[in-house]
Order: sequence, then C-alpha cells, then structure tokens
Amino acid sequence: MISSDWGEKMIQIDDAGSGSLIGGTGIGILNTDNNRYYFRVVPLKYYQTDLFQKKAYQDYVVKIVQDAFREMNIDKTHQIEVCQGYMFDKLRVWLEQNNYQWKSTKIEGPLQIMVEESFNQYVIDLGLPPAFIKHARFAFGFHRLLKWVFADFDNRKKLCKTQWKSWQKWSNTKKNIYLNTLTQPDYCLKCGKKIKPPSEVITIEYVTNKPTTLNLHKNCYKGKLNSTEKIPISCQ
Ligand SMILES: [Zn+2]
Repeated sequence: MISSDWGEKMIQIDDAGSGSLIGGTGIGILNTDNNRYYFRVVPLKYYQTDLFQKKAYQDYVVKIVQDAFREMNIDKTHQIEVCQGYMFDKLRVWLEQNNYQWKSTKIEGPLQIMVEESFNQYVIDLGLPPAFIKHARFAFGFHRLLKWVFADFDNRKKLCKTQWKSWQKWSNTKKNIYLNTLTQPDYCLKCGKKIKPPSEVITIEYVTNKPTTLNLHKNCYKGKLNSTEKIPISCQ
C-alpha cells in the first residue's frame, strides 16, 4: 500500500536521541487528524544496565506506545506510520500481532521536528546548555557531548548511555588538568557562562579522536589537579 492511499490523516511514531550520549531516547506519537501529540523518554537505566544487552529499550517503546494509544484513543481503524529505525523492531511485531494497520516509513514533517524539539528540551532539563545544542550542526556528536561530560565527569557520567562500546572505549581517557591563564574568550563547560580573558582557569586536556582542550572557571572546578603546567600528551 502506498502513502497516498492512506490520505493525510494518520498516526505517526518517531524517535529522537537514540544516538545521543546524553539521556535516554525520546519517543513521539502524533495524530495528524487532531494534532494530539504524546512524548516520553525511554529511561536511562535501559542504557546503563544489562537491560541494554537485552535490548529491553525496544520493549519499553511498546509500553510507551500502548499507553499513548490508550490516552489518545487510537484503535485498529487508524492508519499508523512507524519510523524505520531499530528502536521500533519490537513495536512492529506488536502492531502486526495485534492486527493494527501499520507500515514502516521515513517520518518527515511536523512530527520529526516536534520529537527533536522535545528531546532537546529533555537534555536541556538534564543540564546541557541550550546554546550547546541549538546553534550547532551535529550537536549530538559523541565527542562533542563527551567534552561536556568531561567538564564535570562525576555528575555527568550519570546522564550517559554507559553501556555503549564507545563510552567504554573513551570514558577513561587520561586527562591533564592544570591551572592556566586564559588569553582568549571561552565558555566554561561547567556553568555555561563566559570566561573573560585574562583570567586564571582550570584547563583540561585529553586526546580522543583528536586533541581536545576545555577551560573552566577556577571556582567551577572542584576536583584535583594532576599537573602543574601544560605538558604534551601523545596521540595513541
Ligand atoms: Zn564556570
């Protein structure tokens, strides 16, 4: 059955943030007939425990959609479009077994934007500075988010998809942490505010996919220093 047969009015289901190191994964459901919208997040524990290896996040997606259908009065007379991603593998099975009228497709238009905005707001609520994600392409790039995590590691590691292989590969990266004098304007990745030069800062340097430097207000850093000055760190 092709899209035009279904007309304009349908239920669409999409996700956002499955590739974001920070936060769980957002699931959005839209009834294009009345513009009712439902958004919920697959919790972080599905990415931080052995639930991850069991892909239990896919079961949780089914639960979210069941709750949404109940709340939005969606039944078997509705046409349902589901995003093609792996997040919905078990949802597709459930829809089929329960005789819903559904198909997999690429979700475009309002829902895609709504789910992305909902997910952005969710990670902002977790503490990510709005400017960090709103004015950047590839805002949710792994190493970009890892840099923000490294600025306050003990607190922010709790917000990460720690069962990812990439987390296990990079999260223990050695860092040089030292007192420094800032000569260029920068943003403190701890408090999100400007740092005006010249000022004393704590500089954190490390090498992951590339050498990276971040600066914090001296008073924003509570941990230890592990070197007294800039020392070169070699690429592995
Ligand atoms: Zn600061």
